[in-house]
Order: sequence, then C-alpha cells, then structure tokens
Amino acid sequence: MLSYPERIGFIIFAIAMLLLTAFGFFQILRAIRRGHGDFPWRQYLGEWKERLKTQVINVGFNFPVFQNRPRVGLLHFMVFAGFSFYLLVNIVDLAEGYVDGFTTLHQGILFAPFVLAADLLSISVLVGMSALLIRRFIVKDKAFNIRENVLLNPKVRAGAIRRDSLIVGLFILVHVGSRWLGRAFALAGSGSGDWFEPTASVVASLFIALNLPHQVYEIGQHVTWFLALGLILAFFPYFVFSKHIHIFFAPINWLVYRDRRLAVTEANNGAGVKHMQDLSWQSILDSYACIMCNRCQDVCPAYAAGTPLSPSALEINKRYWLNENLLSFANGKSSPSLLDMAITQEAVWACTTCGACVEVCPVGNAPMVDIVEIRQMLINQGEPLDTNLQKSLENLGKQGNSFGQSARARAKWTQSLNFKIKDARKEAVEYLWFVGDYASFDGRGQNLSRQVASVFRQAGLDYGILYDAEWNSGNDARRVGEEGLFEQLAEHNIAALDKAKFSEGIITTDPHSMNALRFEYLKLGKQYRVLHYTQVLNQLLDEGKLKLKRQLDYRVTYHDPCYLGRYNRVTAAPRELLQRLGVTLIEMPRHGLGSFCCGAGGGQLWRSELVQDARPSELRIHEALSVLDGKTNEPNLINAANGGNGSNGNSAKNSVPLFVVACPKDVAMFADAVKTSGNEEKIVVKDVIELVVEAMQYPQRYVANQPYRGAEVEAGVARRFP
Ligand code: SF4
Ligand code: SF4
Repeated sequence: MLSYPERIGFIIFAIAMLLLTAFGFFQILRAIRRGHGDFPWRQYLGEWKERLKTQVINVGFNFPVFQNRPRVGLLHFMVFAGFSFYLLVNIVDLAEGYVDGFTTLHQGILFAPFVLAADLLSISVLVGMSALLIRRFIVKDKAFNIRENVLLNPKVRAGAIRRDSLIVGLFILVHVGSRWLGRAFALAGSGSGDWFEPTASVVASLFIALNLPHQVYEIGQHVTWFLALGLILAFFPYFVFSKHIHIFFAPINWLVYRDRRLAVTEANNGAGVKHMQDLSWQSILDSYACIMCNRCQDVCPAYAAGTPLSPSALEINKRYWLNENLLSFANGKSSPSLLDMAITQEAVWACTTCGACVEVCPVGNAPMVDIVEIRQMLINQGEPLDTNLQKSLENLGKQGNSFGQSARARAKWTQSLNFKIKDARKEAVEYLWFVGDYASFDGRGQNLSRQVASVFRQAGLDYGILYDAEWNSGNDARRVGEEGLFEQLAEHNIAALDKAKFSEGIITTDPHSMNALRFEYLKLGKQYRVLHYTQVLNQLLDEGKLKLKRQLDYRVTYHDPCYLGRYNRVTAAPRELLQRLGVTLIEMPRHGLGSFCCGAGGGQLWRSELVQDARPSELRIHEALSVLDGKTNEPNLINAANGGNGSNGNSAKNSVPLFVVACPKDVAMFADAVKTSGNEEKIVVKDVIELVVEAMQYPQRYVANQPYRGAEVEAGVARRFP
C-alpha cells in the first residue's frame, strides 16, 4: 500500500522513536534497580502457575479495577481490551503497508474473526475513552481531587495529571479513531461494506452515498495509516514519562507481587528509609505501576479523618520526583529526604496501618509499607515522638504491656472467675489462649475475657493461658516502626510459648496478636497455628459441645477488624456465628476485606496529639446507622428471609440495633465513638461473645462469682446477666 519513499521515511522515524523510548525505559529500569533487595527470580519461577493465574485474573480481566468502582472499571476494561488487541492490529496494519498484495479487506472467513474483533474493539476503545475523558473534564469527578493539606508535587497541584490524561486520552482517540476511519475509507474505495466490519461499513456507506472521488479514499487511507501508526511511535518517548506507563509496569508489578504487608522490616534490615534509594526496588516500581486513581485515598481512614495523609499522593510524589530527576538518580545521585518531597512527617504518623490501601490498589502497590519504613527511620534517628506514644512504648519495653501495669497483674482478670484457668506453663492443654493486652488490662476487655473463658469452660474446651509470662505480641510496636522493641517482645513470647505445653494451637480474641503470632514471628523463625475465638466457637457448635438455648432477636451490623479480615482473611467465621445466633445481619457498604478501619491500629490508640476533622470510629458509627436506619438501598441481609429468624421478626426491627465487633480494642473504640457522636440511644456496641452468652442463657454466677473491683465491669456484668 505504501510508496517506497513512505516506507523508508517511516522506518527511519520508527528507529529514532524506538531508540529514544528504549533509552527512557533503560533509565527507569536503572532507577528501579537502585532500590535495595534481591530479585528472587528462582522463587518467582517456582510459582509460575500462581503468577500466571494472577496475570490472567488481575491483568487480563482487570479484576481489581472493577472493585470499588465497577462503572469506571468497565470503561477502563473497554479501553484496555481494545488497546491490547491493537497490538495485533498494528502489526497487521504494518504488514498491509509494507507487503505488496497483502490485505485483510474482503477476505471473507479467512480474516473474519480478526476484522470483526478489530472493528468492534475500536468502538469499545472510542466509547470507553470518551466516557473517561467526560468523567475527568466535564463531570469533574471529585475522586481525582487531593486535599490542600496533603503534600503534593507542585506540578501535580498545578494540573500535570489532568494535562497528561488529556494528552494520552486524545492520543488514544486519534490512534484508534484514525485506524477505524482508515478501514471505512478502504471499504468505500472497494465499493461496498463488509458484514464482518459492521461499524466501519456504516461510515463507508455514507462515503459511498456522498459519491466522493476515488482519490479521496486513497489519500484518506494513507493519512489515517500514518496517523494511526506514526502517532503511536511519536507518542512512545512521551509515554515513558506519562502516567500511562502503568500499561507496562502494572503487569510487571503483578508478576512480581508478594504480600509486602508481612515484610515491613526488610528495608535496610529495620533501619528504615529516608531517601528514594533506601526503598526496596518493589517500592520504586510501585510508583511506575501507579495509575494515580486515588482508590487508596478513598479507602484511607486517615484521609477520611482530614489528616495530611493520602497514600496516592505518596506514590504520585515519588513518581513525579523520579520523572524530574530520572537521569541523575539512575546515575547514582541521592534523592532528597522522602519527608521533603513525598510525604510529611505528620502524614507518616497518621497511618493506622489498616492495609486498606494495599487491598484496594488495582496494580498491587503497597504505600503503607513505605510509611512504616519511614517510621522505622524516624525511630532510629531518635526523632521526638508523641508523648503518649513514647510512654506506651516505654511501658511495652519495661512491663511488656502498653498499660504500664505490672506484668504480674496480667491475669488479674481471672481472679473473679469461680474456676481456675489452667496454667499452660505447668500443665499440658490442647489450646493455648494468647489473651492480649486489651483483653487483659482494659476494664471492658476483661469483662469480655471472662465471658470467653466461661464459654470455653462450659463447652469443655481444654485450654490454658500463659499468665504473667505473656507479653504484648509486638504487632503494633512493629507498625510504629519500633523494630527492636518488636523483636524484644516477640523473643520473650516465643520463649514462653516454647516452654508451654499445648497440642492443637493458639486461640486469641485479639486480631493484632493473631497477626503477629501467625505471620510476624516468622522473622524470628516461628509461625504458629492461630485461631480466632469466633472460629473456635463455630467449631464447638459444630461438635455439639456448645449449645445455644435461644435465638436472638436483634438487628445487627458487623464490623470486620482490619487485622482479622484484611490481614488474616477471617471474615466468614464471625458471620457464621451471628447467623447461628439468629440475629438479622445487615452489612455496611464497607465490609469484609473492604472494611473501614476503627482508627486504632498502627499505634494510633497510643497517640495523644491527633489532629483530625472526624474520628474514623465515629464515621463508622454513622455508616452503621445509615444501614440500620434503613437508609441504604441494598442491604445484604442474612437471616432476613424468615423475619430475622428470631422469635419475633417485628420486635427485631423495633429494638435498638447492635454494632457487633470481634476485637477487644474495637469494643473500646466504638463504645467511645457512640458516646462522642451522641448516638447512645440509637445503637449499642457489643462483642460477639456477649451475644453468644445471651443465647446460651448462661448463669451469671458461673461467670463472675466474685465482684470485680472495677465499677465499670460490675455494671457490665449486671447489665449482661440479669
Ligand atoms: S494503611 Fe490505612 S491508614 Fe495507612 S495509608 Fe493505607 S489506607 Fe491509609
Ligand atoms: S497506589 Fe494504587 S490505588 Fe493508589 S493511586 Fe496508585 S494505583 Fe491507585
């Protein structure tokens, strides 16, 4: 189709553009390689089946892009599917231009699947891309905004991402639109349309109806061929610096994906990160994979609370700094401190380590890991900490608990039970219950612990505790960045667990302890089988060892704790338990793996100087009330089919609804939030164990025959066991 001068000119242009692009790519690879850490290619090769599956699901079907934003996900998929197919289309078009006599036009069944797919997918790209541009530039979706109090690269603040999106969007429209129009010219030149190119044939029939001179079709084909293929080459060097480089780096990010929530200490062996080059190579790769969609910001409790933390801004700032300094950084120059150009110190301390940003990211990024590693650096540099946080860390180091109480007081909560819990250090048990700080020292937590202890005993479970040998698990100390303290606590607990005799595993009511014992102690070579108490209660019910005497008649919503749901994937067991209790469960919009954080994790509970517009726990109570008040359109009802499955479905609707939790910290967090948000008359916070006890009609004397000295707990016992 092309003349010889056209062929030669195109080849020279292609070589020049590809060389420029390759140079840019090479610099990016060098920049990524400046990050520390090995590339475990042997491990990756050994896992090729799983990694291939991830590619197919996460890249091929864009699965994570649909989560949270299904409509935008569909538009993205329309563009992605068409643009991917255009790799083949461009090659075939090149062949049509260069190989004399080769054409896919009117070739019948021989090229039918190809030309049909190219025709339909062209429309898919044009419609999808146009809708995405309308969303950004006409509708001006607020999801693209990043608040003024967040540190953001000045160019981005001035609209660089918008400009980039416009350039790339228009490029895609012209690239695909030209090719599609070129097919219409070719069909019109041939004198007829083709059933296998239905949309281009409609345009061709218009051209034919206009009775244009034949030269118009000839020129039209040449111009559109150069626009389609020449434009993509001209765009390549720009592409390297645009946000759309994610087309290459997002699939790579998924290919080398690993759960980095468990690897927060790898950066400089716990020394933390200060500069870009201190990050792991995967963290630098994150910034190139980032599609700047702000999904992570949408789900971030710290951002929702009005703090200066936006995980997407962190990735965007890293990327724009790299764009501006790529050559010098790739050549070995140090970056400035990340705290000067990527994230502020205030933002670093605002993170709850809830993991929502990691869970939601459609390209597998982990901004939270950078934040924890920056905290490690600040701790190691001896930066002054929030006074309460400092005190809590000191307490952990001295007494093994953040409450600053004597280590010997840890099992004091057991004294008001009328039975003795076995000491797993002295006698063999099947299960070891790792109680955790909050369940051991906090008044409300202690009351829940007594109820758990009593229910276990009633079911005949053979269990024991470590008494004063248990220390804080270290999970949150590690999230604060106190790696040394984490190791100190973990070593102490491991030594205690080594001496204890238990055959079946560990039980805990505290999701933070569960996470540490299951995953974090791996750093010290230990990993335990750990069950959450809701899992154990289901097991006891299955075995008929635990008996429920009545069905409960409540409307409830359930809050998934971050460290139980997202970190440990335990979302079904609490729901199964609630279903067995007979309550009507109405899900909040953010539930399961997409749960919204209570705001306590990552050491936030220990901080005093929180500057927030709204507390995440209060936002969560409002979310619960919005569904329990019936303001949601599509509640996910369990047990609703039979009117609540309680004794009287109507009364369930009339009673004060419950906000059910399965974490001792959450009871404290949300009970306070209900009070401070002025909703005490509208909703009651309960731990799931309280509902189990109620359904068992458990006698009060069995739980606490000696009044506990805390007034709060006495009131709690009286209220719960009338
Ligand atoms: S871990 Fe949670 S609080 Fe921290 S940046 Fe991610 S979403 Fe925000
Ligand atoms: S880190 Fe992930 S979720 Fe956040 S803006 Fe980038 S691509 Fe989107």
